[in-house]
Amino acid sequence: MAGDNRQVRTSRCPYCSHRLDAASAVDGSGAAPVPGDYSVCVNCGGFLRFISRLRLARITATHLKGMDSETLAELAHAQRAIFAAKKRAR
Ligand SMILES: [Zn+2]
Repeated sequence: MAGDNRQVRTSRCPYCSHRLDAASAVDGSGAAPVPGDYSVCVNCGGFLRFISRLRLARITATHLKGMDSETLAELAHAQRAIFAAKKRAR
């Protein structure tokens, strides 16, 4: 995964309550997240989206349906990387 993490407003994962204060663009661009962008929780692998003031919200079934396949593949890839890293850490 790209190493250029961006500090973001501290927010809790809506799935596992893990404190999240950094994000890295899945495309490796180093771009800072904006509302509407998607993310994956580094703790539980839950799919997230940035909403106003860069707070984090769950991705609903409606969002998943409207997501293009490339974005979905990037999220799934990031989720697999997180699960693999957690498995190695055990
Ligand atoms: Zn989480």
